Amino acid sequence: MPRGKNTNVYLACKECKMQNYKTRINKKTTSKLGHKKYCHRCRKHTMHDSSSEIRHSN
Ligand SMILES: [Zn+2]
Repeated sequence: MPRGKNTNVYLACKECKMQNYKTRINKKTTSKLGHKKYCHRCRKHTMHDSSSEIRHSN
């Protein structure tokens, strides 16, 4: 298990803003993420951006 400054983020569809995927990024090494992933709402592959961080509220 690597220890680091990895941050859990959502990957949100750029077109409908739906948060479809969760991933982990390292903010020191990863500046901007852009992933082409399938969006169930758009029913096609769209660009997904890392959006809000996932907070461990409970
Ligand atoms: Zn979408």
